[in-house]
Amino acid sequence: MLANQMEVTGYISNPNSNIDIQLDTISELYGGRVLVTNPYHVIVYDSFGTEKGKTLVSRNISTCLKGEEIFEIDWDGDFVKYLTPLLPTESDRITGALIVQFHAKKELDRYRTYQKELLLYALIVSALFLAGLGLSAWWLVHPIKKIERSMQHIALGFLNDTVSVNGNREVASISRSTNEMLSKINKLEASRQEFVSNVSHELKTPMTSMKVLAESLLMQPDTPVELYREFLGDINEQIERENKIISDLLTLISLDKSANRLQCERTSINGMVETVLKRVKPLAEQKNIEVVMESFREIYARVDESKLMIAISNIVENAIKYNREFGYVHVTLNADWRYVYILVEDSGIGMAEEEISHIFERFYRVDKTRSRETGGTGLGLAITAEIIGQHKGTVRVSSKEKEGTTFIIRLPLNL
Ligand code: ADP
Repeated sequence: MLANQMEVTGYISNPNSNIDIQLDTISELYGGRVLVTNPYHVIVYDSFGTEKGKTLVSRNISTCLKGEEIFEIDWDGDFVKYLTPLLPTESDRITGALIVQFHAKKELDRYRTYQKELLLYALIVSALFLAGLGLSAWWLVHPIKKIERSMQHIALGFLNDTVSVNGNREVASISRSTNEMLSKINKLEASRQEFVSNVSHELKTPMTSMKVLAESLLMQPDTPVELYREFLGDINEQIERENKIISDLLTLISLDKSANRLQCERTSINGMVETVLKRVKPLAEQKNIEVVMESFREIYARVDESKLMIAISNIVENAIKYNREFGYVHVTLNADWRYVYILVEDSGIGMAEEEISHIFERFYRVDKTRSRETGGTGLGLAITAEIIGQHKGTVRVSSKEKEGTTFIIRLPLNL
């Protein structure tokens, strides 16, 4: 403001006492020194009154006389310097320079303290940030390490262990999925063991019968020929049974192996079902069972004919096996634009509601004695379910005890 007044009043060429007083006041107020030079570096005002008229040459004054304002701090001497050019409004010629210089130790010390405090705060914040970063890394990695240790333990064969790790959402989800996977593996292992024990048991039963029959023949010294014939006939039956179990098992295993390797061709479903019914005719005649096929039209579908024939045979044979004397088996074919439906309806012994969900399990039989008498192995429907599943089809069963059973097979026309 003062420089402005000096410019307006043309102080350099025309000094006035009013401005001098103000310059003195500033000098006293800040406890510093105020100087004014003309464009030729000659001091025209000095608040100390000692240098007036002398020439003062310095880099700062030269720069200021070129029109630049300068603010400078001398940190060693604790000085603050301010230089501003005096530029009258009507011309762009610089008429002089106003130089204010004062000692500011107190202010600069305060500034230094602030700087130190700021540095300290920055250090504390950085340390806290790093500690937080380390802590969150530990929080993330620690549960994963725990999962890894659990998995290594499980890999050693401790399949009944579970992974129980509490951590963030992702870690909890990993440990949940791992546990689900483990429970599936355990279930699979249990079913494998059950299957092996079932197989051993089923294979052993005919063996035991044969051994008993053979031993009783051997024990009697004078066994009549008729008894030999009868017992050998029984032994032969047991061999057939053993054979049937083994061939059913082989079918099941080969299906497991060749899963997704169906050899599908466009096949007449009517023709295929007719062949099945022709094959089971002798069995039906033995029991005086009427087998009828009804079809609304000729149906073609892309299927693996030989496999599908096994599946349908098993259902139709069961419909005859678990039927009453003079009963019936009705086979109905139908199709819409996507699926073919094969209905096998019998007037047989039926089964309870709770049995239905089990009949597709390997070796499951509602009535073991009856199944054995009819030459059943308990594998037929397991084979059927596997084949229909490979064809992306479904089997639905409805049944009423002592009234009959209906199997509905649904297969896609184009696999
Ligand atoms: P199995 O060789 O004993 O016939 P399956 O797997 O073919 O074995 O059938 C399993 C069981 O389901 C049979 O033992 C029987 O108890 C029951 N079952 C299957 N089909 C019928 C049916 N049409 N009527 C009544 N029970 C049936």
